[in-house]
Amino acid sequence: MGKDLEKVLITNDQIQDRLAVLAEEIADEYEGKDVLLVGVLKGAIMVMADLMRHLRFSAPVDWMAVSSYGSGTKSSGVVRILKDLDTDITGKHVLIVEDIVDSGLTLSWIRSNLESRNPASVEICTLLRKPEAAKVEIDCTWVGFDIPNEFVVGYGLDYAEAYRGLKDIGTLARHVYS
Ligand code: IMP
Repeated sequence: MGKDLEKVLITNDQIQDRLAVLAEEIADEYEGKDVLLVGVLKGAIMVMADLMRHLRFSAPVDWMAVSSYGSGTKSSGVVRILKDLDTDITGKHVLIVEDIVDSGLTLSWIRSNLESRNPASVEICTLLRKPEAAKVEIDCTWVGFDIPNEFVVGYGLDYAEAYRGLKDIGTLARHVYS
């Protein structure tokens, strides 16, 4: 599977080092507060699992799954909820944990949707962000890495449902497309 990568952009060691730093900052912000970690399926599974292991306190977790209406691989910002939270977030501090912010349209919709449920706060932690791809301004409190506007896979991120299990994050080799 690893040979399908053209180049490794971020190694698993780099991811873990960065998540350890983010987890300290997140713990400073939320320790002792009624916080709920919200992961967006499926890409965020790895970052959620590792972030939780780096956190020095135990926080409850819930998941959402959404599908984005759009042409091909492009997100349109029109989102349908496939799986909603099991938790009532009224009065809770919500931390959305995401794998990647590309155009920002999906996350922007999710954030507004969650804000409409009267939580105490909604913040975002994303492992990756593509600043050149942004279509909407989205305020992410914690960002692991800013990356170039290239399609990446691994560490939860897929291409046609493959490569999520790769430990590192990289770009796909040309032979995969042809
Ligand atoms: P956005 O609405 O354009 O920000 O799209 C966000 C979603 O598109 C992410 O949650 C990913 O599921 C997917 N996505 C965006 N860029 C990539 C990528 O480079 N690799 C894999 N999935 C991606």
